[in-house]
Amino acid sequence: MIANSILTGYFRLDGGAMFGVVPRRMWSKLCPPDANNMISLAMRALLVRDGRRTVLIDTGIGNKQDERFRAHFEPHGEETLFGSLQALGVSREEVTDVLLTHLHFDHCGGAIWKNELTGITEPSFPNAIYWTNERHFQWAMYPNERERASFLRENFEPLYTGGRMAFIPVKQGVEFIPGITVRFTYGHTEAMMIPYIKNGDHTIIYSADTIPTRWHINLPYVMAYDVRPLMSLREKKRLLQDAVKPGHLLFFEHDPEAACARVGTDEKGRVTALATGSLTDMLND
Ligand SMILES: [Zn+2]
Repeated sequence: MIANSILTGYFRLDGGAMFGVVPRRMWSKLCPPDANNMISLAMRALLVRDGRRTVLIDTGIGNKQDERFRAHFEPHGEETLFGSLQALGVSREEVTDVLLTHLHFDHCGGAIWKNELTGITEPSFPNAIYWTNERHFQWAMYPNERERASFLRENFEPLYTGGRMAFIPVKQGVEFIPGITVRFTYGHTEAMMIPYIKNGDHTIIYSADTIPTRWHINLPYVMAYDVRPLMSLREKKRLLQDAVKPGHLLFFEHDPEAACARVGTDEKGRVTALATGSLTDMLND
């Protein structure tokens, strides 16, 4: 397995929502907000290749939202999904599978692309199967009022109706392909998928929105967006138990600087980041 971090760009979210019950005077020291209390966050996908399959995990926000949406979430930065793949020499046609951890727009918006010349929208990867799970798909199709703004049908419904979507069985630790297993979590949203990727001596944990940044390793840092925050807390503890094992790395989808961390336990028994950096740095660490 070869794994590469794919930065698809940045956007902004409300800092308070991102850090939940943690007071602003604490989180703002770690991550200073702008005048509107917004913080800049990465949208970082992961590309995994084993010589047969080319798997993309999550896709970022995409390019098809209107000005009103863009004014709200302020996508920014030079990087794009297609640009970052191209920099690795990977074409859109080569991608065989797109694993969508969940269907919030900042994770699956890039699955369907808008041709800016013709205005036509189509699947971003013409030969790929797009993977979700049935429980989450139903949840996203008929969302509760609190998550409604995060589930935009245009990001995923056409994949389903176009016969391009497939469901991963909802079974803890299920093997997606050899070398990638999936854990299901229910705190952030219903049946979000956390892929564990074997990479030589390492296991990369793509923690999605369970531990979106290195600051969220700290247990009380649970996003206000989560539908079941106490379950998020339990799931985070469970994930950190795995992350402290030798050879395990935590991958951060939203951290504005660090893609990855090696974690361990400090003298008080708390899990903490021992080293952070790019995925390549951490794999060679
Ligand atoms: Zn999410």
